Amino acid sequence: MSNTALMPIPGQIDPVPVARDITPRADGRVDLLGLPKNRISELFAEAGLDARQAKLRAKQVFHWLYHRGVTEFEAMTDIAKTMRPWLAERFVIGRPEIIEAQHSTDGTRKWLLRTADGHDFEMVFIPDADRGTLCVSSQVGCTLNCRFCHTGTMRLVRNLTPGEIVGQVMLARDALGEWPKGRMDVPEEETVAEYTADGRLLTNIVMMGMGEPLYNFDNVRDALQLVMDGDGLGLSRRRITLSTSGVVPMMARAGEEIGVNLAVSLHAVSKEVRDEIVPINRKYGIEELLEACAAYPGASNARRITFEYVMLKDKNDSDEDARELVRLIKHFKLPAKVNLIPFNPWPGAPYECSTPERIRRFSEIVFEAGISAPVRTPRGRDIDAACGQLKTAAEKKSRAELDRLAEEKQAALG
Ligand code: SAH
Ligand code: SF4
Repeated sequence: MSNTALMPIPGQIDPVPVARDITPRADGRVDLLGLPKNRISELFAEAGLDARQAKLRAKQVFHWLYHRGVTEFEAMTDIAKTMRPWLAERFVIGRPEIIEAQHSTDGTRKWLLRTADGHDFEMVFIPDADRGTLCVSSQVGCTLNCRFCHTGTMRLVRNLTPGEIVGQVMLARDALGEWPKGRMDVPEEETVAEYTADGRLLTNIVMMGMGEPLYNFDNVRDALQLVMDGDGLGLSRRRITLSTSGVVPMMARAGEEIGVNLAVSLHAVSKEVRDEIVPINRKYGIEELLEACAAYPGASNARRITFEYVMLKDKNDSDEDARELVRLIKHFKLPAKVNLIPFNPWPGAPYECSTPERIRRFSEIVFEAGISAPVRTPRGRDIDAACGQLKTAAEKKSRAELDRLAEEKQAALG
């Protein structure tokens, strides 16, 4: 951490310094993962290629990197044989390190990952009948201290870089075996179908892992641009959802510069309760937040804003709360759906989950007002994988034990 640049990011009360970028690699090589094509081209030029060559090679490498998931230059068959070692001496294509990989009985998978400078974070894959959703982290820890969230109890260590964010998607594709198999230098071996989301396991991405994505705006934007780039991972922005606790000043930019679906962690309908459970509310209140939602570029009935609402017993789950939620949504004329999330308890949590009957009643009231309000089914409970609660029992394990597990899992993943 010592030689990384520090930048202040706004915390809910106190701004904290976090590392701006990855620590340079000890071997001096540059990791290309997470860099846009024009930056790769610049680096190739700085390393000595002429401008035309640099541009061409960058295009080829970019394609191998994001369409093929290739991590070795030697495998890039349309690049001259002599060129490949030249690249390998100067560059690498990295991945976050896998420390632990868990598989739930319901198909949910969770990975504990580590950055090159030794910070742990998590991602979760949730398969459903018609889709597969990857829950991606944006920070190690979180500066906001939502009282029901385990991540909120962690100290923020740092923002994840674009490479570490897009690296999660790459790792998931590695693990799911979802890279096209044909040979790129033999066009007839390419099957178009392999480049579409159809038939793939990983179809959707939610920025709902550790961290507040709008407090790491630039890196999240740059990473998601690589995910959406037709020459990159090529996922439609309609299949990506960014969840925010309500960083109001960044919401318009998120709509304009990223343009993905928006989810807002509302969780309460009165100032008193929201101040307590989502403390950023003291800075940006409910009205201000809902006005920003109403102005969110791209929101429409076809692309509704999701309001996340965690069900906390005797805290925010009364009939009056449900009715007030409806009133607010109607008052601000929001194209909205509500996601009711049963609270996922963790040791020492100051709340309990509402009863199933209470959750059902709450859902009915919202639904009867014409607003969709499904109750999210907890997934991967046996591996503690609830999205948004990506804090890990693994921390209780010793480092040595984790390192041993990492080796085993890496081997098992091939
Ligand atoms: N920081 C962003 C995104 C990550 S949290 C945000 O707050 O929106 C993703 C979602 O999981 C949020 O709605 C969050 O409030 C919810 N969540 C966090 N801890 C939870 C828990 N213990 N049980 C249920 N949902 C939780
Ligand atoms: Fe941070 Fe979101 Fe957890 Fe709040 S709910 S502490 S914003 S990760």
